[in-house]
Amino acid sequence: MDFLGRQKVLRDELERRKVDALIVTHLPNVRYLCGFTGSAGVLLATARPVFFTDGRYSEQAAAQVKGARIVIAKGGGQVAAAKACGRLHLRRVGIEADYLTVSQLSSLRQELGKEVKLLPLSGVVEHIREIKDAAEVELIRSAVELSSRLFRPLLRSLRPGVKESKAAARLEFLARQAGAEGMSFETIIASGNRSALPHGVASNAALPSEGFVVLDYGIVLGGYCSDMTRTVHLGRAPAKARELYAAVLESQLAGISAVRPGATAGDVDHAARQVLKRAKLDRFFTHSTGHGVGLEIHEPPRLAAKNQTVLRPGMVITIEPGAYIPGECGVRIEDMLLVTGTGYEVLTPVAKGLIELS
Ligand code: ZN
Ligand code: ZN
Repeated sequence: MDFLGRQKVLRDELERRKVDALIVTHLPNVRYLCGFTGSAGVLLATARPVFFTDGRYSEQAAAQVKGARIVIAKGGGQVAAAKACGRLHLRRVGIEADYLTVSQLSSLRQELGKEVKLLPLSGVVEHIREIKDAAEVELIRSAVELSSRLFRPLLRSLRPGVKESKAAARLEFLARQAGAEGMSFETIIASGNRSALPHGVASNAALPSEGFVVLDYGIVLGGYCSDMTRTVHLGRAPAKARELYAAVLESQLAGISAVRPGATAGDVDHAARQVLKRAKLDRFFTHSTGHGVGLEIHEPPRLAAKNQTVLRPGMVITIEPGAYIPGECGVRIEDMLLVTGTGYEVLTPVAKGLIELS
């Protein structure tokens, strides 16, 4: 991983904003910038970066942290970083406004001298992270491949009477056995009328003998997340269910086709939403079309209505329209895509035709 290159990009961005340093507290950002994977650490990103952690992580920090001096601090990394700002004569210091609590902010203020101006900043490192470098794309590919290999075994555990939670447990066991570091979010297995819940995490409900099952899951590998959804049908799907499935699939394919560098996130959302509108299903499509994926499961850009973010090569996004008929059933289909120089590459290799499990 090119940590020094990333730190340079951030430094240039801070310079552009006339900021002397950024106190990086959001752990995925810390990891992205210097390689530290532990649960407590703060990076003071400035001309000469300093990484602060506590005694539990001295060995791990020495092994992992690149491009920053390591300081083992007693009173916690944030206080130590604030104190360092005074010593280093930094005057305009940015903080990650989306990730500091009120009490953390007040203790930072106490440690910083009057001469230091605190600047609440939002999404600075996240914006840099939107474009994945080659090493990141490789890790994401590996995560997507591993999770895709688990799809067939997952289908084998879907039988009427089996609890959603049991099918999820088996999937998660197989994921860890196959080398996943964990799941990238709580596994969604939503069957029967629960499939109408866009976020129906696996419950104690038993799978019915007939009906849709929404399967939305992902794993973490090398720190990077995967995310995919398939919806299958237990028993033969009646005509109405087939129509719903076909409309969502058409919407998903339209969303994918709209992905190219230069298009806005809103354009892609519009393309997917239009198909469901024509099928008079748009009022059942209650979430956005997709999101960025990387070190975190949900990252910018958000592929939502009117979002003006311009897609650029190297972005990794999901396309995941769905339609959810309250109390009845729902369908969602989700792939991960890489935005390329000329268009897109669908990373998820799992087929999308309707699967009926007998
Ligand atoms: Zn998903
Ligand atoms: Zn997703």
